[in-house]
Amino acid sequence: MPRTGPETVIYDVAVIGAGVVGTAIARTLARYELGCALIDASPDVGTGTSKANTAILHTGFDAKPGSLESRLLARGSVLLRDYAAAAGIPVERTGALLVAWTAGQLAALPGIAQNARKNGYLAVRELGAAALYEREPRLGPGALGALEIPDESVICPWTTPLAFAAEAAGAGARLLLDTKVTGAEHADGPCVLATTRGPVRSRWVVNAAGLGSDVVDRMFGGDGFTIRPRRGELIVFDKFARRLLRSILLPVPAARTKGVLVAPTVYGNVLLGPTAEDVGDRGDVATTAAGLGSLLGAGRRILPELAAEEVTATYAGLRAATEHSDYQIHVDAGRRYACAAGIRSTGLSASLGIAEHVVCGLAEAGLPLRPRAVPPAIPVMPYIGEAGPRPYRDAERIAADPAYGEIACHCERVTRGEIRDALAGPLPPTDLDGLRRRTRALNGRCQGFYCAATVSRLFAEFRGPRHGG
Ligand SMILES: Cc1cc2nc3c(=O)[nH]c(=O)nc-3n(C[C@H](O)[C@H](O)[C@H](O)COP(=O)(O)OP(=O)(O)OC[C@H]3O[C@@H](n4cnc5c(N)ncnc54)[C@H](O)[C@@H]3O)c2cc1C
Repeated sequence: MPRTGPETVIYDVAVIGAGVVGTAIARTLARYELGCALIDASPDVGTGTSKANTAILHTGFDAKPGSLESRLLARGSVLLRDYAAAAGIPVERTGALLVAWTAGQLAALPGIAQNARKNGYLAVRELGAAALYEREPRLGPGALGALEIPDESVICPWTTPLAFAAEAAGAGARLLLDTKVTGAEHADGPCVLATTRGPVRSRWVVNAAGLGSDVVDRMFGGDGFTIRPRRGELIVFDKFARRLLRSILLPVPAARTKGVLVAPTVYGNVLLGPTAEDVGDRGDVATTAAGLGSLLGAGRRILPELAAEEVTATYAGLRAATEHSDYQIHVDAGRRYACAAGIRSTGLSASLGIAEHVVCGLAEAGLPLRPRAVPPAIPVMPYIGEAGPRPYRDAERIAADPAYGEIACHCERVTRGEIRDALAGPLPPTDLDGLRRRTRALNGRCQGFYCAATVSRLFAEFRGPRHGG
């Protein structure tokens, strides 16, 4: 949403960072009589770590019992499951199988099951090798048993922050995109955030800046954590590979990472990854021959037939890891500041739990919360999953509006009508990557080879002349 002029308003709360965590917080604040701003350095919502993860809606069964992450993940995953159903965010409850390949891993399963129960997740159960192969006949040889976690699910990571942001904006929150926060002055009165587009004034500030959260925290006097980006590379396999598995196939976790998994995606593909490598550069989302090679080796063992499938794409995301294992969430009542940081590898699933926790913390610190007389409506998002109905298959919809029968991206079956709607929506994309995250256009096996010209032309046509299109 473009800005219209210099900021003269004083907001009640400014949220820095429009990833899944910041948008969830903005959406939760929007339920109260508050003037909110949602600020991001990038020109669109959800372009940081939130767009490049493994897209699993975790139950939190394997979190560290007693940690803040465990609590907010358990709560957040329940909230997000319900929210997704209301907002049309694609979710598939595939369940997960945590597979033991060695005697040591098999011996670890009862402890992991006990850990899950300590986290309040009771539905976990052990499977012997025969039952496991019955469930997943294409699993590689040598698996000794598994834990079944029936509620682990896959979710659309792109629609989620867009839905939260659309809800917040619909309730009056101002989106200040392409606006990087570079400093903060907090004497008496409202905090003045220095930004690349001029000052933004706000009585309270929430830091949800992901990989930049330690830099923002220092602007508010913090020095309790430093972001140490941990890169995860992933491989996306073609939709033909989807028949190879039913569930998410998890490894027995190691100390530093959840390990390499194979999972279906809500777009009908199969994901293999992620790696876990500490990198110095907060923007280093390059994939590497070594990383992809190690994934292919692991994938071959888990699901041998995967090696023969076509690769559609590769990508990498950066976990906002810190020197601490738990989330770094705190509220400073004196500075009227909240920090939601160090949300390493579970922030998508926990987002609404984190938001609830932060907003409660702000209230305890003195932010007055008066619920709106009419709560904001949960937006109904365009459905871009593979399992549910899509416009190109909906004869009635096509009859009413033939643009839904005109396919622009054939691999993903995205229609002219959906591209038009995305550009006319409340949060229109600012580039082709934003369009991809809203519609799946250019996301298929040709990666734009056949459709890029058509999709680009439609993007320019529906974006309109005011953007030079
Ligand atoms: C490989 C990988 C796999 C993962 N798998 C899963 C999974 O399966 N399930 C799950 O639940 N989680 C998963 N995660 C974790 C999840 O993706 C993150 O926890 C979540 O996306 C973090 O969201 P965020 O909003 O905190 O950060 P981000 O999405 O990075 O958003 C932060 C935003 O802040 C903005 N920003 C930063 N500094 C400034 C500034 N100074 N001024 C203005 N804006 C600023 C950035 O532009 C960015 O848009 C995974 C992560 C990775 C890397």
